[in-house]
Amino acid sequence: MSAIIPFNRPCLLGNEQAYILQAIANGHAAGDGAFTKKCHAFLEATLGVPRALLTTSCTHALEMAALLLDLRPGDEVIFPSFTFVSTVNAFVLRGVRPIFADVRPDTLNLDERQLERLITPRTRAIVPVHYGGVGCEMDVIMDIAARYDLAVVEDNAHGLFGRYRGRYLGTFGALATQSFHETKNFTCGEGGALLINDPQYIERAEIIREKGTNRSRFFRGQVDKYTWVDIGSSYLPSDILAAFLYAQLEIHERIQGIRRRIWETYAAELRDWAEANGVRMPYVPDHCEQAYHMFYLLMPSLEVRQAFIAHLKAQGILAVFHYLPLHLSDMGRKFGGQAGDCPVTERISDQLVRLPFFNDLTEAMQARVIEAVRTFQVI
Ligand SMILES: *Cc1c(COP(=O)(O)O)cnc(C)c1O
Repeated sequence: MSAIIPFNRPCLLGNEQAYILQAIANGHAAGDGAFTKKCHAFLEATLGVPRALLTTSCTHALEMAALLLDLRPGDEVIFPSFTFVSTVNAFVLRGVRPIFADVRPDTLNLDERQLERLITPRTRAIVPVHYGGVGCEMDVIMDIAARYDLAVVEDNAHGLFGRYRGRYLGTFGALATQSFHETKNFTCGEGGALLINDPQYIERAEIIREKGTNRSRFFRGQVDKYTWVDIGSSYLPSDILAAFLYAQLEIHERIQGIRRRIWETYAAELRDWAEANGVRMPYVPDHCEQAYHMFYLLMPSLEVRQAFIAHLKAQGILAVFHYLPLHLSDMGRKFGGQAGDCPVTERISDQLVRLPFFNDLTEAMQARVIEAVRTFQVI
């Protein structure tokens, strides 16, 4: 049998190895060395954000966001139920009560039409997730947030370089978070970034990220010694990881080009099969330029989805499902989550399957995946 095609794998595409060695040779392998600064400058200039800070993960960038917003026990924050645990857990760590919203059946993004009925006097923030790198309805979300005086934190783990109405995802909320985990478009194994669009948070973010000290100001010569000034933790990655990441960011157009080709090939080659078998393909609204993070299919039912995954696995192809509804998780139920609260999330979570998608997926491998998919008949 031919080699197994994984769902995801990390790969080297540019100067990763040379830069990693250079980071060590520079004599500054701890955080905020030369490559970290290059990543910051790149993200700030390319996206046009006032400040970008690398973090050890998207999870940690989300924790920083919860600290920066000064969220306290009893505060409420609205999240989509269809997301990764960290989106919510980072806020629950501060005592926040999570309020779960359902997702739109078309884009699988936070359903903005449900937001207003979930807002109470205790609501402090909304955390939209741009699922698959397709933008949420940010015009509506930002308008509601402004009317109710709520902060918006975009979990943009999937959406780097995606756009909504021409504007980059991650540039709408006061804060936004990125992930450079090995499953994301750009990676250094484990890593993330906090994008700060509201400049009032910049100085405190630097302090929180540096164990509650004003060390960043010290290094810029703005204070003559550094000391403990606030709460914080160690949220900055080694410059070795920043070196790995920078090698990928500097060729971002090439990487996005590869991912676009993979996505468009799946879409074109599977369209007829999907239609004939009652399978739904991803939907990208005209006003969204997606980030080509994943290619998913919505199968008619859980049983068909499981049979489909087994069918591909028998041919050495690993396809995987995605998020389980958070409101029905053990933790979600402790916060009052019940079956029926988010019917779209509950349904699509059973139906969704993601096909192999990584930066060195070759045309031959993808052809094998497509052929295997097409031989599956929904009866
Ligand atoms: C991957 C992911 C995260 C977590 O990212 P880490 O960098 O692994 O902490 C958070 N939110 C979403 C939507 C993700 O896909």
